[in-house]
Amino acid sequence: MARSTTSVCKFCRRENMKLFLKGDRCLGDKCAFERRSYPPGQHGQRRTKLSDYGLQLREKQKVKRIYGLLERQFRKYFEKADAQKGATGHNLLRRVELRLDSVAYRLGFGDSRKEARQLVIHSHFFVNGKPVNIPNTILRAGDEVSVRPKSQKSVPILRAMGNVVKREVPDWLELNAAEFKGKVKYLPERNHVTLPIEENLVVELYSR
Ligand code: SF4
Repeated sequence: MARSTTSVCKFCRRENMKLFLKGDRCLGDKCAFERRSYPPGQHGQRRTKLSDYGLQLREKQKVKRIYGLLERQFRKYFEKADAQKGATGHNLLRRVELRLDSVAYRLGFGDSRKEARQLVIHSHFFVNGKPVNIPNTILRAGDEVSVRPKSQKSVPILRAMGNVVKREVPDWLELNAAEFKGKVKYLPERNHVTLPIEENLVVELYSR
């Protein structure tokens, strides 16, 4: 599976905000954005005024980076969101939030979306009682995600579950930590995505 190999802290510096891509490290004083909150590269500290296109592009890159998606994959999500009823931007965010790796992260089974994705690929999860190792599986309301019994002693999972108190499980999910499982109670609405994302800029970019 293709993936980006760039240091993810550069993404936060480029997007000028913390994207929380490294789990616990993002909350401590080792966060690269806290130390150097200007874009990477030789000209990073120069002031530049972005054009409309530049703003739209940055917003799209930001969303892609939060969810760890590559361009082609993200474009496909946009096309599917556009074909659905309702606001395209909201549909898009709902779709990426409902990916199995994202739900596993939001339930606290992984310290970051990237870690949750690795755990999914390595078959640590069941969906509705069946093993699923495809991170881009889109979940539906009522679906249950559980940690495979053999994996319930896995150090990364236990560590992440210890950290979940630092970032709350959203209302649309229900966590049963004692039984290592969680459920999609209902589909997420726009207000459940708490990071400052202006999805209308992404829609404008792809509608050009
Ligand atoms: Fe971003 Fe986390 Fe790296 Fe800080 S530690 S720059 S929040 S990925």
